[in-house]
Amino acid sequence: MIEPQRDPAASSCDAVVVGAGFAGLYLLYKLRGLGLSVRVYEQGGDVGGTWYWNRYPGARCDVESMQYSYSFSEELQQEWEWSERYAPQPEILKYANHVADRFDLHRDIQLNTRVESAAFHKDENRWSVTTSGGKVVSASYLILATGCLSNARTPDFAGLDRFRGATYHTGHWPHADVDFAGQRVGVIGTGSSAIQSIPVIADQASHLFVFQRTPNFSVPAHNASLTPEITQQWKADYAEKRRRAREESRNGILMVIPEKGALDDAEEARRREYEAGWNRGGISFMASYNNLLIDNSANETACEFVRSKIAEIVHDPAVAALLQPRDHPIGSKRICVDTDYYRTFNRPNVTLVDVRSGPIEEILPNGLRAGGIDYELDSIVFATGFDAMTGSVAKIDIRGRDGVSLNHKWAEGPRTYLGLMSAGFPNMFIITGPGSPSVLSNMIVSIEQHVDWIGDCLVHMRQHGLGCIEATRTAEDDWVKQVNNVASGTLYPQASSWYMGANIPGKPRIFMPYIGGVGVYRQICSDVAAKGYAGFVMTGRAGAATSLAAE
Ligand code: NAP
Repeated sequence: MIEPQRDPAASSCDAVVVGAGFAGLYLLYKLRGLGLSVRVYEQGGDVGGTWYWNRYPGARCDVESMQYSYSFSEELQQEWEWSERYAPQPEILKYANHVADRFDLHRDIQLNTRVESAAFHKDENRWSVTTSGGKVVSASYLILATGCLSNARTPDFAGLDRFRGATYHTGHWPHADVDFAGQRVGVIGTGSSAIQSIPVIADQASHLFVFQRTPNFSVPAHNASLTPEITQQWKADYAEKRRRAREESRNGILMVIPEKGALDDAEEARRREYEAGWNRGGISFMASYNNLLIDNSANETACEFVRSKIAEIVHDPAVAALLQPRDHPIGSKRICVDTDYYRTFNRPNVTLVDVRSGPIEEILPNGLRAGGIDYELDSIVFATGFDAMTGSVAKIDIRGRDGVSLNHKWAEGPRTYLGLMSAGFPNMFIITGPGSPSVLSNMIVSIEQHVDWIGDCLVHMRQHGLGCIEATRTAEDDWVKQVNNVASGTLYPQASSWYMGANIPGKPRIFMPYIGGVGVYRQICSDVAAKGYAGFVMTGRAGAATSLAAE
């Protein structure tokens, strides 16, 4: 393939960052602090990434607020006040804006602008980046901060364009208020987004039909206001708590995991343990025992406990049976965290429709047909998920060394070294990319680790007068093997999940995130750096970066 020519008139900077979510914001802060000129392009109309798009009713984070926040600035973490145990979407978006204002980030962020393509020029060690406005920017480094769950996916239902009512996707929710009062609403899907929005939509709609193909395990959030005492407990010891979450936890979230497995306890004691987890609320339910994600028999005890809770809460035994997951180990798909999800099915205005036994056949002008039955609807909400981890990267036409396309290279599944770089794509970094803990962790912990590592790496290159870094094929092959090996020792590959690419027809089935834990992963990355960036080749002279020309 022929390498495209660089436009000599293109404006220049040291780094182009794609995306102004939590990763892009911290990257800008970090790299600017290192003296680099940075340009951030964001397709949305504001900063915040996930929290800009996912503004569906009931949207909130399932990681507790005191932990789902930046740790890089002591002043920031001391001054910001979270209102609830689990922050609602508007508050997280406000936080993202506060960070952008506080650190004067807006001036280097261009909103409403997609990066359409990027090509590497090996003679200059620089990327040419083309935006949706037709602008071409030249940069030494291209950093993809595009998010793991940012490419919302609506299945290709027949008749979709004929529907006369309104359609919504949870991951692409309108910015104007949506009022379902008096409407017959259909929600398609029962993942985390659906499970959060269903109770809220049921409160508004005259009737809600929930179209479920696969039930998911959900545990109660027990959300509540954050008292000053709790907030103070965190803030008094924030640095140490953050350190422990970063270095000692599996998923970047502080939680106590007992040193025993589920089968070490007799039935009654086990039930008490699960009951305590259920009453505590949130994803720490999976920390009730230390072997729930590696031992099928142990896992089944937790599955059975949650199924028994569903049977207790849901009055109609047939509906309860449909809501009880039986096709995957609990936690092998992201466990959902809800407020009143199961109870919602006791409402007279809510109907659960099993589209496993009777699939959705087509969308009709006034509703949809599933299993031969027509459901009249005024609005349809697609809570049908994302082309996860690779979807947003794939939308950019990225050409690496010798014009090779990243989509071509990843056709059989993503290949990276440490989830940070892909061989053949020099000077291109991915934040929380496939092959790193990313979606299995507290995203902000993983984002900060990647950004800090990249910052150190770029400083190292500057100090040594180097202009080009690239992962070696050998290091990449070894890492891909390691990621697969660690995953195969767990129950995760047993589920048809978006972690495996299983929700996208035709997507290769590969377990994409690194499951070894954030502490272990951080150590691996630090060791690589300490060994002179083992597995990477650093060459070339630094390309002369000029300051960004006025746009
Ligand atoms: P998801 O987990 O992928 O769920 C998509 C749902 O749509 C599934 O129930 C799926 O059924 C259904 N679906 C897809 N195509 C369908 C079809 N053709 N017919 C019928 N049903 C269909 O997506 P999500 O709920 O948006 O969640 C994605 C991830 O985002 C979560 O796992 C979580 O990591 C994150 N998230 C986090 C929060 C939070 O922090 N609280 C909230 C929301 C999302 P099948 O299972 O049968 O495919």
